[in-house]
Amino acid sequence: MTKSVPFMSRPEFLAGSPLVNGQPIAGPGATLPILNPATGETIATLPLLGAREAELAIASNGAALGAWRTRAAAERAGILQSWHALVAQNREDLALPLTAEQGKPLAEARGEIDYAASFIQWFAEEARRVYGEIIPAAADRRSMVLKQPVGIVGAITPWNFPAAMITRKVAPALAAGCTATLKPSELTPLTAFALALEAGVPPGVFNVIAGDAPAIGSVLTGHPDVAKFTFTGSTAVGKYLTAQCASTLKRVSMELGGNAPLIVFDDADIDQAVAGVIASKFRNTGQTCVCANRILVQDGIHDRFAEALAARVAEFRVGNGLEGDTDQGPLITPAAYQKVRDHVDDAVRHGARIITGDQHHDAGELFHQPTVLVGATEAMQLAGEETFGPVAPLFHFKSEAEALALANRTRSGLAAYALTSDMDRFWRVAEALEFGMVGVNTGIVSNETAPFGGIKESGLGREGSRHGIAEFLELKTISLGLSGQVQA
Ligand code: ADP
Repeated sequence: MTKSVPFMSRPEFLAGSPLVNGQPIAGPGATLPILNPATGETIATLPLLGAREAELAIASNGAALGAWRTRAAAERAGILQSWHALVAQNREDLALPLTAEQGKPLAEARGEIDYAASFIQWFAEEARRVYGEIIPAAADRRSMVLKQPVGIVGAITPWNFPAAMITRKVAPALAAGCTATLKPSELTPLTAFALALEAGVPPGVFNVIAGDAPAIGSVLTGHPDVAKFTFTGSTAVGKYLTAQCASTLKRVSMELGGNAPLIVFDDADIDQAVAGVIASKFRNTGQTCVCANRILVQDGIHDRFAEALAARVAEFRVGNGLEGDTDQGPLITPAAYQKVRDHVDDAVRHGARIITGDQHHDAGELFHQPTVLVGATEAMQLAGEETFGPVAPLFHFKSEAEALALANRTRSGLAAYALTSDMDRFWRVAEALEFGMVGVNTGIVSNETAPFGGIKESGLGREGSRHGIAEFLELKTISLGLSGQVQA
C-alpha cells in the first residue's frame, strides 16, 4: 500500500482494478498512473483500457440484461440494500482512497461516502415503486402504461465527486432493471472500482472501465446496443457527447457546469450568509458545479458581510486531506490551479481588490490560498466562467431587480442561492431565478430525496429523488380491447 495513505483494512480498494463481467480486465499494455494531488505521488497504476474493452463491457451488459430486468423488483432492491450496507460499513476504507486520489479533506470524503450511500438506499427503496397506469381510454378499450428498463446504460462521471456521481447514476439504473458500464474520470477511478467491488450484482450487470476517455466515450455514445447515456462533467464535453449520441438517438441525461450566483440581500442574517457562502463556495476547495461562482451583495450589507466572510476564510486550515484536520485541499491538476491564478490575476487587472488570500499556498504545488476579493464586475473572466477553485468574488448591487438581472445573465442554469429574511422576497426571488435549483438561506441544495439538475446549458434530466429513476425507464402503452357490457 502507498506509504502516505493511513492503514486500511481493505487495502484492495487502493489497488483497484477495472471490472468487466465481474472480473478484473487487462488492457493492451499501456498504463495509467493515479496521482495524489496533494503530494504528486503515484498511488496506483492501472491498465489503460480503450474501445475494445468498452465493446466487451457492452457485450457483457447485453448478456446480463435479460435476467436482471426480469428479476422481481424486491430482489434488485435487496441487492442494492446489501450494497448500501457494505458502503456504510466500509466508510473509512472508501473515504481514504477518495481523499488520496481527489484531494478533498478526509472529513469531506467521509461526508461524500455517506451522500453516495444515500443514493443507493434511496433507489433500493424506489425500485419497488415503479408504478404503471391504467387509463379509461374508451368504452371498449383501456390503455395501460408499463414502465420498463431502458436497457444498457453508458455512464461517464467526473473527478470532483468520485463516489456520489457514480451511485447517483448507477443505483437508479440498476434499480430500474438496467445494466450499466461506467467510465469514471481517469483522475479518480479508484473509488469507482472499490464501489463496484462491493456492489454484489451478477457478472455483467455493472462494469467499470477507464483509460482512453475519447475511445471509451465513442463506444458508450455510439454503440447501437446502448440505449441510454448519462454524463456529469463540463458543458463543452457534455455537448460533444450529446452530439455523438445523436446517430443512434440515445436517451441522454446531462449534468453540466454551472455559474451559480449567490445573492446576499440587506435583510440577510450575516452569520447565515457567511455560513451559506462557506458551504456553497468552499466545499471541495471550490470544485463543485453548484459552488457559488458570483457572490452578489447589496450595498447596505456589503462591507460588514465582506469583513465577516474574509475573517472566516482566513481561518481555514489548508493542507493534505489525509493529514490532520484540514478544511481546504489542493486543486485537482496544474491546469485547474492555473485557471484559479488566471482568474485572480485578471480580476485584479480589472480593478478587484483582494481582502484575504491571493497567493500560492506552501502546502504543495497545487494548493492555493482561499481568497476573497471585492469590486468584481462582469468584465472579469470569473463572472463568465466557473473558477472551480477557492476564490469568492463579491459583486455590488443596489436593487432586487438589478440582482436578478445580474444573476440570470448567464447561459448556465444549475444552482442559485439567495439570503434574505423577507418572505415575500423569498418567493419573488426563488421564482424569478432561472436555475434548476435554488437554495434560500442555505448553501446546500442537494440530497438524495430532491431532484438535482439544471436548465439552459447546465443539462438535461434530473438525478436523485423519485424523478431520478424515471431517467432509466421507458413508458410502454398497451391498449386492451374489451367488451364493456356486463353480461346478463
Ligand atoms: P472536468 O472539467 O470536470 O474534468 P470533463 O468534462 O473534462 O470535466 O470530464 C468529465 C468526464 O468526461 C471525465 O470522466 C472525462 O474523462 C470525460 N471526458 C472528457 N473528454 C471526453 C471525451 N472526449 N470523450 C469521452 N469522455 C470524455
